[in-house]
Amino acid sequence: MECLFCKIANKEIRDNVVYEDEKTVAFLDINPRADGHTMVISRVHSNNILDLDDKETAPLFLTLKRVTAMIDKALKPDGFTIGINHGSSAGQAVDHLHIHVIPRWKNDGGSSIHGVVGNPPRESLDAIAEKIKNSNK
Ligand code: AMP
Ligand code: ZN
Repeated sequence: MECLFCKIANKEIRDNVVYEDEKTVAFLDINPRADGHTMVISRVHSNNILDLDDKETAPLFLTLKRVTAMIDKALKPDGFTIGINHGSSAGQAVDHLHIHVIPRWKNDGGSSIHGVVGNPPRESLDAIAEKIKNSNK
């Protein structure tokens, strides 16, 4: 098995695991952007959220909530940025779905999720909403 995060989940690579259960694992990012920068993953390999089996989705998000609460209690940040780099265009470097939990402090020099991209739409919001709604038919 070549996937780095599968290896961490299977304990083939030693890492700073902060939480694990039957379905999920959370471990510290090796290149943290802030104290307590944590990755939350499913033990089941999927490249991204579109490929994640529905039955793995709820456990992943429950662990996300639990781990965020653990970090909140331990490090007392002022907030969090929680996000997924989904696909290489969005900066995904490891092809095993992972959710970044990045503790935030007042005046930490970071920005909001809105700072990730500024690519305003050329179509109206109504037209875009229609396309998205129709894709569910
Ligand atoms: P992404 O760009 O969302 O795919 O981010 C991949 C993340 O994985 C980066 O933040 C890396 O610092 C982190 N990373 C890479 N290797 C390891 C590792 N062995 N243990 C923990 N985190 C890692
Ligand atoms: Zn994997």
